[in-house]
Amino acid sequence: MRVLIIEDDLDIATNLYEFLEGRGCVVDMARDGVSGMHLAVSGEFDAIVLDLGLPGMDGLRLCSKLRREACLDVPVLILTARDVLDDKLTAFDCGADDYLVKPFALREVEARLKALVARRRGRVVNRKLVHGAIAFDPGNMAVSVDGRPVHLSRKCLRLLEMMMSAPNRVYSRAELEQELWGDEHPQSDSLRSHMHLLRRALTDASGLSPIETVHGVGYRFSAADVGQT
Ligand code: CA
Repeated sequence: MRVLIIEDDLDIATNLYEFLEGRGCVVDMARDGVSGMHLAVSGEFDAIVLDLGLPGMDGLRLCSKLRREACLDVPVLILTARDVLDDKLTAFDCGADDYLVKPFALREVEARLKALVARRRGRVVNRKLVHGAIAFDPGNMAVSVDGRPVHLSRKCLRLLEMMMSAPNRVYSRAELEQELWGDEHPQSDSLRSHMHLLRRALTDASGLSPIETVHGVGYRFSAADVGQT
């Protein structure tokens, strides 16, 4: 689990950092609202622990900017010193997912983060991706064209899932390789081979070729190629 802690109190931030890192999380930390916002938008986190009283930009403002301007749905757990109902309601209004009042037990922070991350995965897993005749069901990793199943290897499925979840977005080769192989470096043409198999399967099943090569950059799933604009 990758966690971003945004907290200006050094003792609390350090305790959280050391505890979560000791529990196997990859942790990053910001001590003010502006750098917290920057990290939240530029890094990929599974959850954010956010203090309300922060220098630069307070936690509520940061949370609503994250939701409304950056359109990020990463779970946010708010930390605050005040146990007041209005504060909690305002936090939820700003798009927070959960709320903890200081002082809190570190194990409770971990438990709540895990619950938030699991809930979000559930939401993502149940969202069926449909573009034109091509449908991808992430819940059971099944692809169909006009309702007929298309059989793909696990790596091809993962590639298609990534690209269909953000149609028209260009994925770089490095990004796709990282997703498929992590830090083990694949053979230089492995990604191309999987892309070739994926394209052939889609073309055989649908007569369409929605996966485009963006020269010098990577690949994208083109919504226009499956009849969407
Ligand atoms: Ca504070």
